[in-house]
Amino acid sequence: MAEIICVGTELVLGQILNTNAQWLSRRLSELGIDVYYHTAVGDNVNRFKEIVTNSLNRSDLIITTGGLGPTQDDLTKETVAEVLQLRLVLNPEILKNIKCFFSRIDKKMSHNNEKQAYIPEGAQVLPNDMGTAPGIIVEKGQKTIIMLPGPPHEMKNMFKKHVIPYLKQRFAEGLIKSKVLNFIGIGESDLELKVKDFLQLKNPTVAPLAKKGEVSLRITAKGKTLKEVEEAIDKVEKGILSIVGKYHYGYDDEPIESVVGKQLIANNITFAVAESCTGGLICNKFTDVPGISKVFKEGIVAYSNEAKTKLLNVPQELLVNYGAVSSQVATAMAVGVRELAQTHIGLGVTGIAGPYGGSKTKPVGLVYIGLSAGNTIQCKKIQLHGSRKDIKERAAKYAINVIREYIKNSKN
Ligand code: AMP
Ligand code: MG
Repeated sequence: MAEIICVGTELVLGQILNTNAQWLSRRLSELGIDVYYHTAVGDNVNRFKEIVTNSLNRSDLIITTGGLGPTQDDLTKETVAEVLQLRLVLNPEILKNIKCFFSRIDKKMSHNNEKQAYIPEGAQVLPNDMGTAPGIIVEKGQKTIIMLPGPPHEMKNMFKKHVIPYLKQRFAEGLIKSKVLNFIGIGESDLELKVKDFLQLKNPTVAPLAKKGEVSLRITAKGKTLKEVEEAIDKVEKGILSIVGKYHYGYDDEPIESVVGKQLIANNITFAVAESCTGGLICNKFTDVPGISKVFKEGIVAYSNEAKTKLLNVPQELLVNYGAVSSQVATAMAVGVRELAQTHIGLGVTGIAGPYGGSKTKPVGLVYIGLSAGNTIQCKKIQLHGSRKDIKERAAKYAINVIREYIKNSKN
């Protein structure tokens, strides 16, 4: 039905990621428009011409991004006009807008910019509030080509403001909506097994996605109205959560530190973190959360045994008798940092990130997460896999999840 062509040599050279294609596909799917192809092509007239010609044979709607600028290598509009056998005509309105844009930013308009005021005859112009290149919609018979500028903020603004209303009226047949449920503390295959009946559904569909240290399920529903799709998603979500709800921490793109950080802020629960193998990653994640300073008091990276004793008062005997990677040391770190910072919660993490340093009894990926909170002192032992970086990342997420579980249990 629809396809997306992104124009720019920088895309095919791998210098930038084609985020426009992803963003546009999401929006089109929300509008109920199926996207069948993504193409990226360099700034080359012949190759672009070939792609547009092919696309016109198989799709009713083609959306392009990029190549609408004022320079020589910007060729989208010219090539589309040529393929559709349309003349380019000067549009005085656009010329005026471009002149206004330059006077607003107090710069002189170059002669090149005039090129942007030419559009294929009969085309519809989409104003660009954030730059000089206007967007263009050309209709020919059943076919529609929508040309949008390359810079993502210009493209998105134009799409939301002008393209969505246009598409709704011309194409949309229904609606597709997705919701992603995020889980932590359960493996992908285990989760799939538990919710296997849901994975067979046709509408909504449920698809598993694996991320580092966590798993997600995406529920996608198709329907005529927003109410209809939201109700269908809700029903499936409730069903899934009745089985694996205890591992569920959040939705869509929100990371665990944000979910847990917000809970800590909302409940005014102060905390401090002592890290060994994660090297500050837990603190780094928490400090991504706006407003966390209200509850996050202190973070200490105590890497060596000496640092654990000196900074966190971990008793020397524990290090000697049980080793730095042990439940005794993890809890002592949690207790130590909580004592120092005088917080509600103290978290202590120690483990073996690898690739060296593992043994039979203490393999690479072994991590202890100690928690001191209220009258509770507890420790979680986990065995992780992957590269050094993966293990650090997963350990950090699991440690943050230990706080989430504590908050949840203390509420019950
Ligand atoms: P253009 O409209 O072709 O002059 O593109 C201008 C700038 O927009 C490029 O230098 C990129 O930084 C950005 N851009 C173009 N196409 C894309 C795309 N498909 N995804 C993300 N950024 C893009
Ligand atoms: Mg370009």
